[in-house]
Amino acid sequence: MIETRGVTKRYGSHVAVDDVDLHVAEGARYGFLGPNGSGKTTMVRMLLGLVYATRGEIEVLGRPVPARVAEVLPEIGAMVEGPAAYPHLSGRANLALLDASGPRRDRDGRRRRDRVEEVLERVGLGAIDRRPVRAYSLGMRQRLGLAGALLNRPRLLVLDEPTNGLDPHGIREVRDLLHELNDAGTTVFLSSHLLAEIEALCTTVGVVDRGRLVLEDDLDAVRGPTGRLVVRTPDPDAAARVLGRAVAERHDHTLVVDGAPGGPPALARHLVEHGVPLDGLVEQRRSLEDVVVDLTGPGSDTQRSREHADRGAGRSMADTQRRSRR
Ligand code: ATP
Repeated sequence: MIETRGVTKRYGSHVAVDDVDLHVAEGARYGFLGPNGSGKTTMVRMLLGLVYATRGEIEVLGRPVPARVAEVLPEIGAMVEGPAAYPHLSGRANLALLDASGPRRDRDGRRRRDRVEEVLERVGLGAIDRRPVRAYSLGMRQRLGLAGALLNRPRLLVLDEPTNGLDPHGIREVRDLLHELNDAGTTVFLSSHLLAEIEALCTTVGVVDRGRLVLEDDLDAVRGPTGRLVVRTPDPDAAARVLGRAVAERHDHTLVVDGAPGGPPALARHLVEHGVPLDGLVEQRRSLEDVVVDLTGPGSDTQRSREHADRGAGRSMADTQRRSRR
């Protein structure tokens, strides 16, 4: 669905995206993750032909971008850097305009109106009145942006921070909606700096740090086993007595145990044979947060402003880099 090779974007001497090879398979829910200023939005804009790469190749839906972006856009639903809308018009009027000027113009006015109602319903705005968009909350604008992205019934959705500004209910609704669309065959590519969002939604993750892609893999593979087992029991004292020095951590009714030969089944048998009641026993997995924190530094914007402050204070770049690695 999306393939890039060696994509680089420079702004003057600053490299915003550095030699990135992305692989987004058809049917994936791909999470593009990275700290603030790491190049996510720039990459998304390049995928849509809104910004031209300095170097490298981009293919979306099998066609080169930006050369043949006009053929690709009708099959993509996109929302980049927040939803764009005319503030003095209602949400409905905005969608009707978007639809009328869109690549899949439909001559039948009734069908067009039905489609607008359908997407409003899907994003939870079915009941909105004639209020102008300037009176919308950030969450409502975000939903309206999503509705706009769905108008074309796209094969590919490209969304930059789609849950920005939504409350927990809204986040869950958007997640359910993206799951539903994906089940029906839409490939979803979304950027976010929210690990929990990516972890709850995505099948594949790409992590970008200071413009470079430092990881791209299936989420299951990324969150691989740590080699330890997690035991949940109503009697943690009994479990601790039986397990002795193998207990690496203990929190209330949960014990983390250094890997036992035979894995969870053998350990479960051992505990039950020694009269320890069990509520659960599973392999411990690395969290996405552990992986990302290991792979990435502080946000590049943070780092750049530190460098700026350091230069002002007469410190060397080497000092700055040493500090940012800590
Ligand atoms: P965030 O999560 O904060 O939205 P991001 O990962 O989307 O950040 P980008 O917006 O792609 O990051 O920015 C990457 C880097 O490129 C940043 O250092 C940013 O300041 C710089 N940058 C982006 N657009 C421009 C531009 N038009 N001119 C100069 N520098 C730019």
